[in-house]
Parts: sequence; C-alpha cells; structure tokens
Amino acid sequence: MLVATPLVAAQEWQQQRVDASSNPDVWIKKTSELIDKYDNQRQFEELAMAYALQAEAYRYSGNESEAQKAIQEGLRFAALAESKVAKTLLKMNQTWYFLQRGQLRQANASIVYAIEHAKESDNKDLQIEADILHAQVMQNTGDIARALQILEQLNREAYTARPRLQMEFHALIGSIYMDVGANDIALTHIQDALEISREHLGEWDVSVLEYNLARAYQGAGNDKQAEQHYKTALEISEAINDDLGVAYALFQMASMDIEEADYQQALMRLNKALPQFKSAGAHPMEAQSRLSIVSVYLGTQELDNAFSQLESATSVINTLTDDKLHQNLHERWSEYYQSQGNYEAALEHYKTSVDYMQKVQKQTRDKQVQEIMVRLEIKEQETTNELLKKENELQQLELQEQQTSYYLLIWIIISGFLVVIIVSAFLYQQWRARKNFAELALKDDLTNAPNRRAIVRICKKGLEQAREQQRQLALAVIDFDHFKTINDQFGHDVGDHVLQRFAEVAKLSLRNQDSFGRLGGEEWLLVFFDVSKEDAKNIFERITDKLNSKPIEGLPDDYRITFSMGFTNAHPEDDFDSLYKRADNVLFEAKDKGRERLIITD
Ligand code: GH3
Ligand code: MG
Ligand code: MG
Repeated sequence: MLVATPLVAAQEWQQQRVDASSNPDVWIKKTSELIDKYDNQRQFEELAMAYALQAEAYRYSGNESEAQKAIQEGLRFAALAESKVAKTLLKMNQTWYFLQRGQLRQANASIVYAIEHAKESDNKDLQIEADILHAQVMQNTGDIARALQILEQLNREAYTARPRLQMEFHALIGSIYMDVGANDIALTHIQDALEISREHLGEWDVSVLEYNLARAYQGAGNDKQAEQHYKTALEISEAINDDLGVAYALFQMASMDIEEADYQQALMRLNKALPQFKSAGAHPMEAQSRLSIVSVYLGTQELDNAFSQLESATSVINTLTDDKLHQNLHERWSEYYQSQGNYEAALEHYKTSVDYMQKVQKQTRDKQVQEIMVRLEIKEQETTNELLKKENELQQLELQEQQTSYYLLIWIIISGFLVVIIVSAFLYQQWRARKNFAELALKDDLTNAPNRRAIVRICKKGLEQAREQQRQLALAVIDFDHFKTINDQFGHDVGDHVLQRFAEVAKLSLRNQDSFGRLGGEEWLLVFFDVSKEDAKNIFERITDKLNSKPIEGLPDDYRITFSMGFTNAHPEDDFDSLYKRADNVLFEAKDKGRERLIITD
C-alpha cells in the first residue's frame, strides 16, 4: 500500500482544485465572483487562474460546454498575463475536453501545448501532471507503447511526493492494465489511487476512481464488488451534481444488467445516460451507450429497434478513430445479422471486427510494450481469443447454412419432381376419367357392348368410308323373339343374362372390320363391310348357334333362344336413317313371317 507524503508548500490553487473536485457547484459560483472581481481590477493573471479553476469545476459537474467557454476565456487572459501556470491548467482542461469528445488529434495538440507551458512554468508538479495526461492521450489513441514510455520516464521521487500525481500515475497504469486484460493487477493500482484520492483529493476524483475500480472488478469477474463500487460512484456523482459521472456509472451498471439479461433495467439506465453523453458531446460514450442499447434490443429480439440504434451508432463511430469502438460496432452488426439468420453478412462484420481487434491487440503485443511492461513490473496477461473463437463459430454457421441451402436445393429438386409426378398422375387420372366417361358414354352398361350412340356413329362413319373407299357397307337389325316371355317366365335377370350372352357371342362372331351395338332393349345393330348375302346368312346362323351352344344361367338347358334379323346393303344415296329403315322393315317382315329368320333386302 502506498502512502502519499503530505502536501509540502502546496500552492493555494492546488488546494482549490481539490475543493472544486468535492464541491463543483460551489466553485462554479465562487469562480464567477472571482472572475467579476478580477475583471474589474484588470488582474489578468488571477483572472486566467479563476477561469482555469472554473473550467475544472464545470468539468467536475459534467458541464462540458461551459467548461469549454471558460477555457477559451481563460486562455485569452492567460496570454495577456503571460501566465504559464494558467496556460498549462487551461490547456490540460482543454485536453480532457477533447478526450471526452473523442477528438484525439485535438487532444494531442492541446497536451503538447500544455507540456510546453508546464516546462516554461518551472513547476515540477505541473510538468509531471502534463506528462501523465500526455500518456493518457496516448493510451486513448491506442499507442500504449508511447504511453508506457512516458510513464517510465517520469521521475518516481518527484511524483510520489504529490498525492494528485501519484494518484494519476496509478490510475493510468491501472487503466492500461485493464486495456491489456490484466484486471487483477489493474485492481491493486486503482485501489492505491482510490486510497490516495480518499485521503488527499476531492469527491470527483474519488468517484472517478470508484468507477474505475468497479470496472476492474467487473473485468476480473467480481460482479458483486463491481456493482457496489458503481453504486458508490453513482452516489458521489449525484451528490456533487456531476451529470456526466452519473451517466458513466449508469452506463456501466446497464452493461451488468445486460449480462444478467435484465434488459428492462438496462434500457432504463441507458435511456438516462444517453442524453447526458449526447449533450456533453461525449461522442465515444454516446456511441458505447447506443451499442449497449443495441445489445438490449438484440436480447429482447426487437430487431427493428436494434437496427435503427446500430445506424445511429455507426454514424457516430464513423466520425471517431477509436479502433475498439469500431471493433464493437462490427461485433454488434454481426450479432444483428446473426439474429436475422444472415450468416454471410454476420461473418463479414465479424471479420472486420476481428481486423480491428487484431489492430488493438497488436499494440499491446508490441515488443516495446512488452519490455516496458516488464520494466514497470507489468506482466502481460493473455488476452482471450474469444473473437477468433467466435469467428470460427460463425464460419461453422455459414457452412451449416450453405449445407442447408444445398439440402434446400435438393429438396426443391425432389419436391419439384414430386410435383411433376403428382401433376402428371392427376392429369393422367383426369385423362383416364375423361376416357372412362367417353367410353361410358359409348358403352352399354349391361352388356359392355357399344351402345346406340356408338353403333349409330360407327354406322354413319362407315357410310362415309364406304363412299370414299368404294366399299360395300351393310346393316343388320336384330330383335329377339318373344323376349317378353323370357322375362315373364324366368325373370328380368335371366333376360339380362341372355343380352349379355348375345354381346359375347356377337363379338366372337364378327370380323375386326365389322361392328355391332345395342340399339336399345333387345334390339341390336350390326355393321359390315363387304359382306355377301351368303356371309350374312352364315353370321346369322353362327350367332344363333353360339347363343345356344351352352346353357344360360336361369334358363332350362334345352331352352332355345332365337332372334330375327333384317339385312340390307347400303346404297350410295343412303344415310343412316334410310338404311336403318330398310333393315328394320325387313326385320319386321321376318317377325311377321314367323320369326327366327333372316331376311335380306337390297
Ligand atoms: P317379338 O318377338 O315380337 O319381338 O316379341 P317380344 O316379346 O320380344 O316383344 P318386344 O320386342 O316388343 O319386347 C321387348 C321386350 O324386351 C320388352 C322388355 O320387357 C324387354 N326388355 C327390353 N330391354 C330389356 C332389358 O334390358 N332386360 C330385360 N330382361 N328385358 C328387356
Ligand atoms: Mg323388340
Ligand atoms: Mg323382340
């Protein structure tokens, strides 16, 4: 544990800075009165110092814009009065102002002036303070090697004699340890700094160190201690009306809420912190708050909100040169796209974030850094390769997705094939059904023989064909004899069997080119091509024989079925009706002449 030596011959303004740190509001008022007084008396050196103190008091209350105004005014009078001390203090405050806004180049320019003025002032404390702040700027820029170099070159005896300097040295070393992930070593340094602050410095400094201690605890995984110190930091900041300090504490507490998935609490805290950062022009913190809000929305799966916050964060971060912020930004984008299932975009952002991470890590892995760390008894702690692990994970996901889309493609092909089969089957079925209907429409239900429509159509077509091909078409009409008797004697079913038998027999008895069909009831039409009268007689006999060649179900074995037949050849001028009429007439004649006979007419 370091014990700071008490202040020796401390300048009055040094003590006033400590007071301002504890009572910023009081000192804003007090310095305003002093400014009026010195302005009236045209005491420019005192006036410049009053402005320097006021700027610091404003900074302690988180009022960056007023701080900047006081700095500008102060620098005018410091130049008039040639006050090196005031110039140094004002330029250091300006450096803090730019650091807060993430304007690193301007911060660097300001600290270079501050160092110059400090040297001219011959005030050793101011020189060390400016050097430590220079190291701080280098740390913010990411140039840890340079930061460590500056700290290493400080005169140890000189800074250990001054509590503020000793505090700042330990605070900064602690912060650098945190940067490289050595949180437990960071803890001891920040604890030392806090101890010194509590004993010798003001409340604002204490709150900043409580905050940093909490961060170190959080980094070391000790959430309970972290929460407690954030709370203390918050309480002090509230007590001294340091709006920015309040915002910092709330921001970090929200980051712990997010880790615990307490998104509601996190959002509440971030919504309080964000406007403070915005109004203070603390762009890096504004960006970080927005990234945290993104994490909340990713946690609650409110992707639209996450997207709009990401866009806001992107536009802020694009104005900044902080590699870590860029790394975080791309990590969030990656998470966002991962939530969306867009693994390709997620991987792209992850790669970019890893590039930034490697840039950040390279600075801490620098050989020079290692050497100075060893000299400053800093042992490097391996920074985790989480990001690289994550990259691997995302690549796996992308691969999976590629595989998924490969499967999807196969699935599409298969289902496309299935659709073709199903549609084909459906169409085939339709075709079959239609064909069946068509067949049904042309078939007699009972006998399966062509029905009236079919045989009439065949006959009409045959007439045309016969004309075209110079062939002889003939038509026969058959009507069963005493069919009513069969029905009456043996039943309608037996009559049906007779009709069915006739269909079978007719089919077997006709040539391929000839046709027959059921005209209706027990009347049949037979259509022939090129048959002689002899042929007609043969057919009549063949059918009659075959009809009786084997018993019919329901009929006595010796029951003889007979029919009458009218036959006629077609004339060139015949149409179906005239042809049919002639055949039907001779059928009638056959019936009239005693049935069971064929009559042929020309
Ligand atoms: P004819 O010798 O004068 O022709 O005497 P028929 O008894 O055969 O008289 P007709 O031809 O006028 O009568 C036909 C009968 O055939 C009338 C009807 O009961 C019967 N019939 C008509 N269609 C069917 C059928 O699908 N099945 C059965 N079993 N009988 C039918
Ligand atoms: Mg009849
Ligand atoms: Mg009959």
